[in-house]
Amino acid sequence: PKPNDFIPFLKDNDDDTSLRPKRLSEFIGQDKVRANLNVFIQASLARDESLDHVILYGPPGLGKTTLASIIANEMNAAIRYLSGPSLTRSGDVASILTTISDRDVLFIDEVHRLPRVCEEILYGAMEDFALDILIGKGPGARSVRINLPPFTLIGATTRISLLSAPLRNRFGIIEKLDFYNQGDLSAIVLRSASVMNIPINQDASDEVARRSRGTPRIANRILKRVRDFAQYYGKSTIDKQLVRDALECLEIDDMGLNRMDRNLLKILMDHYHGGPVGINNLATMLGEDTATVEEVYEPFLIKVGLLIRTPRGRMITPQGHQYIKGKKLL
Ligand code: ADP
Repeated sequence: PKPNDFIPFLKDNDDDTSLRPKRLSEFIGQDKVRANLNVFIQASLARDESLDHVILYGPPGLGKTTLASIIANEMNAAIRYLSGPSLTRSGDVASILTTISDRDVLFIDEVHRLPRVCEEILYGAMEDFALDILIGKGPGARSVRINLPPFTLIGATTRISLLSAPLRNRFGIIEKLDFYNQGDLSAIVLRSASVMNIPINQDASDEVARRSRGTPRIANRILKRVRDFAQYYGKSTIDKQLVRDALECLEIDDMGLNRMDRNLLKILMDHYHGGPVGINNLATMLGEDTATVEEVYEPFLIKVGLLIRTPRGRMITPQGHQYIKGKKLL
């Protein structure tokens, strides 16, 4: 088939923010987290106080940033987005803190990668809404306290265990996001499709959901790529067959695993007899950094039972073995 002029869909502005639900009631899935946050938000609003500081943790693409922006919306507050590794000096944090307004939300992504000097500035700010700044040097130096308006810090992390205890202890609300079930993911796909004005049927959205590793970000990404295939081949609606054809081209298999996932399992089998093998060796063989393997690839492989973490390293499970054997036959 040739590309044709039939363009039934709106332009892809590649702006993920357009796909982000704005209110808690629009947020699909994560029922427990949503219900808890709703209580904490409503209670704070009723007391006319800022919301306690929040940590959202879990694998990438599950909605931590989205929830942070929803929290700010529900609190009728403004939000500032920061990222742990981009803050380097204590002054970076101090100058941001002095510009926030009452009830503002400060969102710090990858909060486990915040440098220690920045963390230390946050301790007083989070606990007492105050900033202690040292002015001058030597014997003449003195500390000046600046009061801050009450604000809410929301930290997001894929690795809660890497957060220092003093920082973690200053968060009153800690919520974990899990992989989405297929029903919820399918609902997210249908919602995104309607936001992007993409005609798709239920079977097709179920199929996208099934192949998205339990992750809305991946589901949205697949949806956009399938739309490209639909457009290229002049299909007016996305159906299940089109999803299957597109995913085959993208090398995403029926479990939602991609080439990297399969490589990881193959390396474990072929080079380490199924393991155990240390994470650093595995990452080196894959040509990826250790953190990416741990935070992006492993959680889903573990969740679907193809891989386990043991004290002596990573091991493939009997199901993982079966899976790779099946792939080799193809
Ligand atoms: P994280 O911060 O955890 O990496 P994001 O909040 O950036 O994840 O979410 C990735 C994308 O997935 C967002 O663009 C958003 O549109 C979508 N998304 C995440 N969770 C949901 C949800 N529960 N309902 C609808 N869309 C969601």
